[in-house]
Amino acid sequence: MNYREIEKLIEETGQKLKLKKNLIDAIKKPQKIIKVKFPVLMDDGKTRIFSGIRVQHNNARGPYKGGLRFHQHVSTDEVKILAVLMSLKTAVIDVPFGGGKGGVTVDPKTLSKSELKKLTKSFARSIYKEIGEHKDIPAPDVNTNPEIMKWFRQEYEKIIGKKAPGVITGKATNDGGIKVRDEATGLGGAAITLEVTKSLLKKKPQDTTVAIQGFGNVGSHLAHHLTHMGFKIVAIADVEGSVVHEDGLDFHSTLREIKKGQKVCKTCYCSVHGKSDDCGFVSAEKVLETKCDILIPAAVGEQINKNNASKIKAKIIIEMANHPVLKEAEKILEKNGVIIVPDILANAGGVLASFYEWQENVKGIKLPYKKAQSALIEKMRQALRSVEKIAKKAKITLREAAYMVAVSKIAAATEKANRS
Ligand code: NAD
Repeated sequence: MNYREIEKLIEETGQKLKLKKNLIDAIKKPQKIIKVKFPVLMDDGKTRIFSGIRVQHNNARGPYKGGLRFHQHVSTDEVKILAVLMSLKTAVIDVPFGGGKGGVTVDPKTLSKSELKKLTKSFARSIYKEIGEHKDIPAPDVNTNPEIMKWFRQEYEKIIGKKAPGVITGKATNDGGIKVRDEATGLGGAAITLEVTKSLLKKKPQDTTVAIQGFGNVGSHLAHHLTHMGFKIVAIADVEGSVVHEDGLDFHSTLREIKKGQKVCKTCYCSVHGKSDDCGFVSAEKVLETKCDILIPAAVGEQINKNNASKIKAKIIIEMANHPVLKEAEKILEKNGVIIVPDILANAGGVLASFYEWQENVKGIKLPYKKAQSALIEKMRQALRSVEKIAKKAKITLREAAYMVAVSKIAAATEKANRS
């Protein structure tokens, strides 16, 4: 996806909503792009200069919200796209945040721990004026984690001279974070899967087969919750390959083996026969073609393209990864009657949990773990229902409907902000 594609999606949605051109233009563009160069004293005594970026897309509905990634290929265009997606996500799920995203161009694997800490703190110093508990709230993303969030927060608090735990989310539970955050995206995806199984497939989880590509944070928590809901998981894949069994995989035994260091594509536990030797082992790409009711890409983007779209046998695709289905594939899937639950809705559970964390830090509103889980599930259900309702009424896809919900909310808030 390039930035022009997302602009076009917003333009088309704005036209359907009969928004004025200048309002559509205001929503399309990020409000601010902050680019910084900052120094880090390396272990060899030399100072290296790094580049960082923060894109603040839209704050009409609340403070900018979105992750910080540390990656050698951080590009302005990509960060801009991710920032818009965050604005759309927070709007569709109805949390009072806007959208932002940021990053540093670095391969963190090439740094020592002390260099990584210094880099995080120096980046925090270079953007501290642009962020804040009520202004812009970063979070972990690719190659960043709770420890990096802690360093970032410590530096920010040192500069402003007071506690500000809500300046960043995704913190460890002993550092102002909340328990539900780790599983939130997977849990939200499981809630959506259960709802569409009832509303679109009209089936029970026990009779519904699911294939999952990606077994990291999102994929493993998702598989855990789907298992507890009674779904039959027939395929699991990570980057090295996949395991497939039509009778269903035993998730708990599979996870136990993987935690011991076994590979997904070498582990065969069937939920009916236990440890087994009749699993299929195929590549991570081939898993997308598994015979199943629901396919869940939860690995990386752009996995489903014009070459493999017609081979997809699932009736529903739930986009847990960001942008796993290319536009060229979407047309083929639509023609074949495959329904896609779009990323801005399906994977919004994470930002919802970030909101609960921020709310606890800033407003003192605590949600005990079980309550946070059920609040998250209910909010995902509500968001799905309002998107489904619009899709049905206007005879459009769930993606088009989700964009309508999100863009109309951002537009209303932007107009209101402009009037005051
Ligand atoms: P992760 O790094 O924890 O796990 C990624 C998984 O995908 C791993 O199992 C890896 O082996 C697998 N993988 C990588 N490349 C692959 C490939 N080419 N084919 C098959 N499998 C491959 O990442 P995650 O946090 O689980 O995120 C997964 C996806 O969900 C990403 O696209 C991410 O942007 C998106 N997402 C994550 C969150 C979140 O809260 N973690 C929120 C929203 C969206």
